[in-house]
Amino acid sequence: MIPFLDLKAQYAQIRSEVLVAIEEVLDSCQFTLGSKVESFEQDFAEYSQSRFGVGVNSGTSALHLALLAAGVGPGDEVITIPFTFVATVSAIGYTGATPVFVDVDPVSRTMNPDLLEAAITPNTKAILPVHLHGQMADMDPIVAIARKHGLVVIEDAAQAHGAEYKGRRAGSIGDLGCFSFYPGKNLGAYGEAGLVTTNSEALNEKVRILRDWGAKTKYQHIVKGYNYRMEGIQGAVLSVKLKYLEEWTEGRRRVAKRYGELLADSGIQLPQESPDNRHVWHVYACQSPDRADLQARLSDAGIQTGIHYPVPVHLQPAWRELGHKPGDFPVSEHLADQVLSLPMFPEMTDRQIEAVCAEVAGFAGRSLSKAS
Ligand SMILES: *Cc1c(COP(=O)(O)O)cnc(C)c1O
Repeated sequence: MIPFLDLKAQYAQIRSEVLVAIEEVLDSCQFTLGSKVESFEQDFAEYSQSRFGVGVNSGTSALHLALLAAGVGPGDEVITIPFTFVATVSAIGYTGATPVFVDVDPVSRTMNPDLLEAAITPNTKAILPVHLHGQMADMDPIVAIARKHGLVVIEDAAQAHGAEYKGRRAGSIGDLGCFSFYPGKNLGAYGEAGLVTTNSEALNEKVRILRDWGAKTKYQHIVKGYNYRMEGIQGAVLSVKLKYLEEWTEGRRRVAKRYGELLADSGIQLPQESPDNRHVWHVYACQSPDRADLQARLSDAGIQTGIHYPVPVHLQPAWRELGHKPGDFPVSEHLADQVLSLPMFPEMTDRQIEAVCAEVAGFAGRSLSKAS
């Protein structure tokens, strides 16, 4: 039995440290925000090459507040991709703005900058690229187009802690960066949490005020805000885990490299690390036209897989109001039909990796012999 990810293996490594950190929060009774959250905000901002970090209660809240701080509201349009987790698009919806999609690049699976200018209208306010699967979007052309048109850039970095584009880390290139610490993410809380990065003092101030009821000082509510505060226990757990993140990311990169070597001649289409990028492999999504059969074979062999994501957001019933139909974003639709995420976690052993690859290659061999 090989799990898709193994949170228990990671907990075993850090259990005693985590318990001490949690006990400190309980003893201090700083259950929400407080010193543990503050020091995590600083440490994670530094890790992400950003001046400021604002801790919130989820990645979705991070996106919502980043959009609000950027001045996005009803009547505005925000350009993003349909091949993402639904939260990216829902956060745009929360502000009253309209999500506008551009398709992704078939190899990097991130926003295709060549399609961006055609999607810009007088109502466009922001561009929201997603660093999908742990690899950053092609930020240079995206930022250049945004500057030319006076648009804000918000990075959805929920899957990309520590990912790099030309030596620059996720969350540090756009005007704002949004991270999730959902337990299954590369850096996961023991509950829900998120964070907004920015290099702008003004945007930092806006997000801070919005996450805590719009109050600049207690009971002085200068804007309509939210209860999106990060919990003290999450700040404490994340501070412990951040110290191990580089080691874990290198573990993921080791697994991806080994998959790449072992499956190079398997005939299965493998994910690629773009030049000048540091992919952090939140998921390792290969591609097969016979995905259902491949997934069934792996499942029969006790190997868990995932699909990220099987239906692009423009075809989700929840977003029917946008009026899209099959064929509108063909690359996203093709990927949604074919991607299959293999087990990926830093603690994966060589034997586990080899067992997964043996099944994948065996499946591909069967396909090949059928075709010939
Ligand atoms: C996980 C995720 C989110 C939402 O984060 P939560 O912490 O679950 O609210 C947003 N965007 C992407 C791409 C994600 O993977």
